[in-house]
Amino acid sequence: MDVAVVGGGNSGLEAALQLIKIAKSIYLLERGSQLKADTVLVEKAKASEKVNIWTNTQVREIVGDKLVTGIRVQRNGKETLLPVQGVFVEIGSVPNSEIVGFVEKNRWGEITVNCECETNIPGLFASGDVTNVPEKQIVVAAGEGCKAALSTFRYLSQRQ
Ligand SMILES: Cc1cc2nc3c(=O)[nH]c(=O)nc-3n(C[C@H](O)[C@H](O)[C@H](O)COP(=O)(O)OP(=O)(O)OC[C@H]3O[C@@H](n4cnc5c(N)ncnc54)[C@H](O)[C@@H]3O)c2cc1C
Repeated sequence: MDVAVVGGGNSGLEAALQLIKIAKSIYLLERGSQLKADTVLVEKAKASEKVNIWTNTQVREIVGDKLVTGIRVQRNGKETLLPVQGVFVEIGSVPNSEIVGFVEKNRWGEITVNCECETNIPGLFASGDVTNVPEKQIVVAAGEGCKAALSTFRYLSQRQ
């Protein structure tokens, strides 16, 4: 299967490197003039014959009916339809943290927590993807949620 990964940051490169094992070829598409990922990841991708790195490439459309059949891109002013059967979009995510405007956040809008899931507001706990905890993964979010519940329990117990 030929696939495309959209995004030349660490997420995109990690996805492309994982796909090397199962995909026939991978188009790694980055709109900027160079990949933004860590050098070690970029070097690994460049070393693979399966990975085609396309910088200065804007995605215009993911084409298909029931299934993906291609991705239309614009590169150096020229539009091309790449015949791929899978597209992995790795262009980042925006944390849905506006509802707590008064809490401390980092520059990406993630709620800042310590290792006990405490925010800077006493009695306000946060966990999962919306926080600054690295690795946006289900098992991490579930574990952090459990920690936040235990911290909340301790916080309330100390106030009785
Ligand atoms: C395309 C994709 C593929 C992924 N694949 C994997 C994978 O293979 N393995 C893996 O481990 N992780 C994967 N992840 C990451 C994983 O989904 C997240 O890390 C995990 O779901 C985070 O859990 P969470 O509870 O913090 O947030 P979420 O799962 O996003 O849950 C947040 C919930 O809060 C609700 N919500 C938001 N705002 C409000 C509000 N104002 N009021 C009430 N409710 C609200 C939302 O509707 C949602 O139900 C993937 C993520 C994406 C986007």
